Amino acid sequence: MKGYSKGETMDIVNVIYKELADAAAAVTGVVSTHSHYLRQDIDTGETLHQLMQKTYISWGYPAFPDTAQERKRYVRTVGTNSYYTWMARSLGYLYGNGEPLTADNWDRIDAAFRRANQVPGHSLSILKDVCRYGAIVLDKYDDPGSDVGLPALMKPTFRCDPFLHGYAIDGHDANNNFPYRMLGLDRMPERMEDYIQAVDERIGVMRSQGCVALKIAIAYERDLAFDPLSDEAARQAYHAPTPSPEQVRAFGDAMMFALCRIAAKYDMPIQIHTGLGKLEGSNAMGLKKLIEQNPQTKFSLFHCGYPWMDDVLGLLHNYRNVYPDLCWLPLISTSAAIRFIREALEVGDATRLTWGCDTWTAQESYGALLAIRHCLASSLASLCEEDLMTIDQAKTVIRSILKTNAETLYGIAGSGS
Ligand SMILES: [Zn+2]
Repeated sequence: MKGYSKGETMDIVNVIYKELADAAAAVTGVVSTHSHYLRQDIDTGETLHQLMQKTYISWGYPAFPDTAQERKRYVRTVGTNSYYTWMARSLGYLYGNGEPLTADNWDRIDAAFRRANQVPGHSLSILKDVCRYGAIVLDKYDDPGSDVGLPALMKPTFRCDPFLHGYAIDGHDANNNFPYRMLGLDRMPERMEDYIQAVDERIGVMRSQGCVALKIAIAYERDLAFDPLSDEAARQAYHAPTPSPEQVRAFGDAMMFALCRIAAKYDMPIQIHTGLGKLEGSNAMGLKKLIEQNPQTKFSLFHCGYPWMDDVLGLLHNYRNVYPDLCWLPLISTSAAIRFIREALEVGDATRLTWGCDTWTAQESYGALLAIRHCLASSLASLCEEDLMTIDQAKTVIRSILKTNAETLYGIAGSGS
């Protein structure tokens, strides 16, 4: 890629970008490592307004106006937001002849969506025929370990946050999952070790029933600085009628170390939400001791720790059991994902990056897929243009990130090309 004069550079990048974007779009059997897919087929009377309320856009901008004038103002406001950008494009491709959602075509896209959604299995056909997913790792946080009745496509991850609340018989996580109900116990075992054994056995059963990973999203409840030296305080939390905040914290720490040992025993990667969440203390560096002291455990670090991506890059560089997962990142900030991909390939290798849509609906999942295809093409085109990577190499890397890395990490049999 040498010998071009100033001014031609952009054209060359565009040509390479196009070739790589086409290569990304051609990958079939994509593995989405993280999804909260809702059975949309149950609600065939949904409107576009209701669909939008199930997207990330609704987190920050919940009011989807219903008059033309207010919609114009709304789209002017959120039009730069990555969540909106990719949902608008997805809807455009699915229902608007390729034209992204705007205030002007809103009603037309709404009508086309409602028509399409009346066909049974419409949303599933988006996942299978448009996205062409080979497998989706499903995080059903309101029913841990469920495959929502779609075992061929959905490979469940087992949400383990509730087990960090097992210091009390009525403990539960933020999603109202009660550990003792999940364990089928009506009272606490005498010793904390017996509780951990019960958790171990439960995970073994979930593994045998098809769960491919464990999931921790505790960064929505506390910081990620897990300390291995607090076993005594953890035991006190287990036995105290009203444990102190420090003892509760120590119990969580001890359980995280136990879960990492159990994950290694059953050869299940542990997926951990890093970054954002409740913000303070959610940066991935808090996991350093956990990662260092559990070399046999595979740590899938979700969302690449955004906005503290450098923490994940440092951990990736130093520990071979770290697997950054790009899920959600291209939807949070497309530019951040482009930056991260390039740097992660440089400080790590081509085999540890994975991606998931991290969405509730098929339409937003397709938007997330469009986003990661763009990020991969853009990031790798720059490496090719600088002669740091060949185009063939870039195409292989794209396929690895969208499919084969996740198949290997989660032990999912491959399909598609
Ligand atoms: Zn998620």
